[in-house]
Amino acid sequence: MSTTPRPKSHRTELTGWGLTAPTAADVVHAVHPSIVDDAMAAALAQADHPGPRSANRGIVARGLGRSYGDAAQNAGGIVVDATWLDGIHDIDLETGRITVGGGVSLQSLMERFVPLGWFVPVTPGTRLVTVGGAIAADIHGKNHHVDGSFCSHVTSMTLVTPTGPHVLSAHSDPDLFWATAGGMGLTGVVTEATLQMVPVETSYMLVDTERAVDLDDVMDKMLHGDDDYRYSVAWIDCQSTGSRLGRSVLTRGDHARLEDLPARLRSNPDKATAFVPRQLARVPLTPPSGLLNPLTVAAFNEMWFRKAPTRQLAKPHHMTGFFHPLDGVGDWNRLYGPKGFLQYQFVVPDAEGETVRRIIERLTEVKLASFLAVLKRFGPGDPGHLSFPMPGWTLALDLPVGYPTLDTLLDDLDAWVLEAGGKIYLAKDSRLAPETFRAMYPRVDEFSTVKRRVDPDGVLQSDLGRRLGLCGPGAP
Ligand SMILES: Cc1cc2nc3c(=O)[nH]c(=O)nc-3n(C[C@H](O)[C@H](O)[C@H](O)COP(=O)(O)OP(=O)(O)OC[C@H]3O[C@@H](n4cnc5c(N)ncnc54)[C@H](O)[C@@H]3O)c2cc1C
Repeated sequence: MSTTPRPKSHRTELTGWGLTAPTAADVVHAVHPSIVDDAMAAALAQADHPGPRSANRGIVARGLGRSYGDAAQNAGGIVVDATWLDGIHDIDLETGRITVGGGVSLQSLMERFVPLGWFVPVTPGTRLVTVGGAIAADIHGKNHHVDGSFCSHVTSMTLVTPTGPHVLSAHSDPDLFWATAGGMGLTGVVTEATLQMVPVETSYMLVDTERAVDLDDVMDKMLHGDDDYRYSVAWIDCQSTGSRLGRSVLTRGDHARLEDLPARLRSNPDKATAFVPRQLARVPLTPPSGLLNPLTVAAFNEMWFRKAPTRQLAKPHHMTGFFHPLDGVGDWNRLYGPKGFLQYQFVVPDAEGETVRRIIERLTEVKLASFLAVLKRFGPGDPGHLSFPMPGWTLALDLPVGYPTLDTLLDDLDAWVLEAGGKIYLAKDSRLAPETFRAMYPRVDEFSTVKRRVDPDGVLQSDLGRRLGLCGPGAP
């Protein structure tokens, strides 16, 4: 470990994508991988010699800040801005195996590799996440029921920890690999990863879209049809009540081959494989207040449902629109105003679909407008100790934080999710209580044992980690 002095840093206020709970940290820009070593050494030195003004507040990595809550924040400590680690280190275009820096964004991987015939194995609803962030949250996509989550496609990674760097795979050090998969940055900083990409012929998807009249209808369609598709997702209108409760638009598809595309694209392979993301608009720093209220959200939901075809088969859609419609609007998180918003995402086992209905009913009862509600089915989870996916239903709801009794309402929903044998997704969380977290994630102690092996002084810390009792004073 380097003994160089603390690398240059800037005290900066940070939030997650939900813009709630800002805290200030010393942000170190990892313009070179050695700076991660230096920052780790500085955090260790502070832990060894805490002064009156410099308690052991530790260190954590940050990617593009797309986790919704406080995962990539570290009040009073060090935050390593890993987006600088954005190099492409090795490519095998025959096999689709690539080695990249931990700060490379999935967007840049798509821009470079889709035209060369390779797509990322898993993409979330935004492509503006880093490989390090994708590993730390073990992200899932619309293809989880077929392909599993992100870390199942990571063949090796370099992890900088307080006890030094580790080059590891699921075979060489399964404990550390799977603690890091979904470990929310609390086992170290991923500086490099090797990924297996998936082959594609074009940058288009062949998509089936259909409306579902209510929640039973959409769940039935997903249960009996999802296995025929690689990608599947349902957008749910959380404003509708009564016989229309849970009415939805279901979109499912797979990568389009060249022969699937219309003649104008087939005859122009450059166009058929182009991946050029465009931002259509950007929300201003201070958008007009009250833009998202129950009335505007209801109008949006009505418009979205009606705009969708009743049933449309095998329509080519560009990847950007199919996977990342929200990325077309820059800084859309500002729409919720200065108080911000949170995303409530839970998973419950297959047999607990009733809990999904109960939660949607509860939200409609209290007229809490969710602008965006997305339902997916997960396949089997991977061995990650804190990894989120497990077989069952996952629902993600964006909710404004200004709602007066939001905290108690969500505590009730947590209890229902727990009772159903489910859990809350940490990459979206900003409020879960530590005891509920421990009950939902029964392998926490195994995780902590692995963390202690590489971080005996408890240097790896974040706001989320301290809130959930995973690190900081009193942590195991
Ligand atoms: C619009 C939108 C849609 C989304 N859709 C989905 C979805 O469909 N599926 C899904 O799974 N997630 C989804 N997410 C969540 C997102 O994929 C995760 O939060 C992801 O971790 C964000 O990556 P990031 O680079 O922004 O990381 P950050 O938000 O900056 O950090 C997230 C976590 O990763 C850690 N971390 C970051 N970089 C590193 C590194 N180099 N080494 C070690 N740890 C690191 C941080 O410490 C933190 O704990 C969505 C988010 C948004 C905003």
